[in-house]
Amino acid sequence: MTEFDPRALALVRRLQGAGHRAALVGGCVRDALLGLAPHDYDCACSALPEEVMAICAPFPVHPTGLRHGTVTVVWDGLPVEVTTFRREGAYTDHRRPDRVDFTQSLEEDLARRDFTVNAMAWEGDTLVDRFGGQSDLVRQVIRCVGQPERRFQEDALRIVRALRFSAQLDFSISPDTADALLSALPLLSHVAQERITGELIRLLQGPGAGRVLLDYPQAAARLLPELAPAMGFDQRNPHHIFDVYTHSVRTMEGVSPTPVLRLAALLHDVGKPDTFTLDQDGVGHFYGHQERSAAIALETLTRLRVDHATRDGAVRLIGLHSLPLTPTPRVVRRWLRRLGEGPFFQLLELQRADRAACAPAPAAEEDSLAQVEAMARDILAQAPCLTLKDLAVNGRDALAAGLEGPAIGAALNALLEQVAEGELVNDRAVLLPLLAQSPQPPRE
Ligand code: ATP
Ligand code: MG
Repeated sequence: MTEFDPRALALVRRLQGAGHRAALVGGCVRDALLGLAPHDYDCACSALPEEVMAICAPFPVHPTGLRHGTVTVVWDGLPVEVTTFRREGAYTDHRRPDRVDFTQSLEEDLARRDFTVNAMAWEGDTLVDRFGGQSDLVRQVIRCVGQPERRFQEDALRIVRALRFSAQLDFSISPDTADALLSALPLLSHVAQERITGELIRLLQGPGAGRVLLDYPQAAARLLPELAPAMGFDQRNPHHIFDVYTHSVRTMEGVSPTPVLRLAALLHDVGKPDTFTLDQDGVGHFYGHQERSAAIALETLTRLRVDHATRDGAVRLIGLHSLPLTPTPRVVRRWLRRLGEGPFFQLLELQRADRAACAPAPAAEEDSLAQVEAMARDILAQAPCLTLKDLAVNGRDALAAGLEGPAIGAALNALLEQVAEGELVNDRAVLLPLLAQSPQPPRE
């Protein structure tokens, strides 16, 4: 077991010293038992928030969720969420309890938690494990605390949380929990999309994400209905041994676990079923599927309320995923400049994963992407001129040359393009006269 941060333990002891029952709970206990360093600390205690504030002074205490009994104590620099033991009343909206009562019982507080592995407490020297969490950690199983049907009825977000923890910890889901989860899928309509999306994005980044999506296609189709037509869709193409969905999931497994790349990979072929055609030889083609996939992905990610930077980054990669990147300095420089360094390497990663997920990739194709990558690194090492910032002439020069308004950007970008592609040297003496010859804005 990993040691807990001594500051979190000191906080528990301070509350206990004041006559309260207090323990570290939830994710930090689970992670410590798994030998992982907890990334944040939750403490549950019998003290009320005002009492916690008084007991924990002189450390700063922020009233983060007073209504739910939560304050954040910053103990010697470590933020710890401290919540009064809670017992939840009936649930009628499949989202949150009708009321929350404070209780003096740690056991009651643990009983309201979602999964056995999340329902353990560390009281400073002893582990409280009422629901078999430790044994589920060893057997690597996600299992509801209590009756799964009831727990998903109470709060449908737990459906996505179960899948998320299964992916994140790479644990299986116990059969009764899995059955209940699938039956409860329609209840997700009661849950705010932002909360679902938060869990979904964490799911997709987990090491077990591919397995979860392939094992629970009904759940995937509920979360991402746009992928449903891809499920079982035979590509009728000798280059593809998998149906569109399986290929997409395998591509996703092949890219780094960042939201942009995982979403782009999962959705990169979502437009294939719409664009499918068969040629005379009975071979399937998907002309224009990149654009169609990008359009569908834009709608999907907007509906999911994914933040705009992630959404737009993923949509751009999807639209370009079959861009022919030939290993010539000119092409590599052009795309490095157009996309920027980060997205350029993301695109390479997506293309590689895409190829690897079709069938055994032809060695020559794999090699060409390795060459593109090596070339791009070489180019970058030479501090090339890839953005307007690097160009030897600027907006002021353009104004001085008599250009105005949009003509300035157009002229500078035209020069940048030629410099980046090696047709012109990045030298003021060369570029200034060219700027003066640039097309002038139309005069009224
Ligand atoms: P991580 O922070 O690594 O995502 P975590 O277990 O801390 O994992 P949180 O979402 O931070 O997950 O929740 C903290 C704890 O609160 C959980 O471990 C669980 O005990 C409880 N919990 C959170 N959400 C729910 C829920 N919807 N239903 C029941 N208990 C929940
Ligand atoms: Mg947490």
